Amino acid sequence: LGERRQYNKIKHIKTDDNDETEEEQSDEIIPTFNILLVSDTHESQSIYHVFHVTNTDGLTRQKYCPHCYQQSFDPKDDHYKRDYDSHVSQCKINGGQIIKKVKLDEQPFPYIPHIQRNETYAYLLANNTTQQFKTTHYYITYDFETVERKVNTYFGKPITKDSVICNSQWISVLEPLSVASTIKLKWREQYNNDDNYRKITTPFGTVALKTIYFDLRQGTDFISQWIEQVFEEAKQVELDNKYDNKDIPYNQCVSIIGFNSSRFDQALFSKYLHNDKWTIQSYIGTMGQGKQIVVEHKQTKQQIKFIDAMNYTQPTDLANFAKDFGNKDNESKGLFPYEGITYDNYNYELNKSCPFSIRAFDSQLKNKTMSDDDYQLYLTDAKNYATRWDYLQHYNELDTQIMIQPLDNLINWFYQYNVDMLSFMSLAANANAIKYAIAYKDFDFNVNYPQQSKKSTPFILSQSYWNSKVIRQG
Ligand SMILES: [Zn+2]
Repeated sequence: LGERRQYNKIKHIKTDDNDETEEEQSDEIIPTFNILLVSDTHESQSIYHVFHVTNTDGLTRQKYCPHCYQQSFDPKDDHYKRDYDSHVSQCKINGGQIIKKVKLDEQPFPYIPHIQRNETYAYLLANNTTQQFKTTHYYITYDFETVERKVNTYFGKPITKDSVICNSQWISVLEPLSVASTIKLKWREQYNNDDNYRKITTPFGTVALKTIYFDLRQGTDFISQWIEQVFEEAKQVELDNKYDNKDIPYNQCVSIIGFNSSRFDQALFSKYLHNDKWTIQSYIGTMGQGKQIVVEHKQTKQQIKFIDAMNYTQPTDLANFAKDFGNKDNESKGLFPYEGITYDNYNYELNKSCPFSIRAFDSQLKNKTMSDDDYQLYLTDAKNYATRWDYLQHYNELDTQIMIQPLDNLINWFYQYNVDMLSFMSLAANANAIKYAIAYKDFDFNVNYPQQSKKSTPFILSQSYWNSKVIRQG
């Protein structure tokens, strides 16, 4: 970034002899342009659009250092002028080179993420009561069902002058049809005679499951209604995760776990995550692919975090996730004719009480038809529901329920190493926590661990060592 006029190094490669290359310093000044690369695919071919940016500061609303072109500053920041001036004056002296300096702590500091990054465990360890440590296992799952809406509009440049047909076409968009959530709560006797709660056994004992469901029949704002209800349900989940002993710190916000949502579902509801009632408090991930989105209720300041179950597994689909990590008795994913209904006919089709025909399950997308066995399974299942809307609700709710068992098994698996899975954001971070938890397995808080300086020569990190190992690399 930055219009950097410099003596460009030009590499000449002799085409007749690949082994010999020579570098020479060219003394002509080659102008450099700022470009914005946008990648796209067209008929499974990668294409790149190259935009020439004339005003980088205007495009990014950031001010760039005119010497290194790497450091950026937000002109709206309170300390903008101070930070900008101090960087630029130093950067000018350094000739635009970023100088990295090593600054070490006075004392070597241990790295034990499962303790240092978990205030609950750290507190219990300091009080010699780690046997009280429990993992976060009350949470909320969610899933969306969608229908395809044909758009068929053209955009871009007209193919010929005055033509309505352009070089780009938008074919269809997925519209959310319904959303369901399963809420996992601490079991209470008062739930016994309440149909909203189901008692199940988990690796952590008896718990209660409650399912909520919203669809387009409740209005076009049904997703906002769902989020509002999720905030409401999260209050109890938060209490259930906390310790009875109020001195034990626990401040994690409730996880709202979707499946594959970072690539797909999230796009459906991300626009509902900010309104006059609640707002996005933090967003980790790339545009359109959030790894974790924390949403805060403006009035109650209550926070919930949307994450994806796949943060903790290999890439897979929900049916296999349920099978791979669930128990043998885990229900299998239901069957629904995704391509059998569209945005234009969903209400007409779903109001019917007869089951879908086997043809409705044909999938052009996956180039598959339904087997007779699967269709019989569907028919047996569909018999229990008065209309197709009711079946959709059952199907949607089932998707959020079959995630519970595999999630609990994963959480429990990490728990054996005193690692609280949901307190970390990814499989890699959890694996890292396990690695150091094992290294610290026999660590005893009451033992004095003197520095064993006599056994080996101490390592002294010098600036020259840092320069050769860190700065000159790459
Ligand atoms: Zn600079």
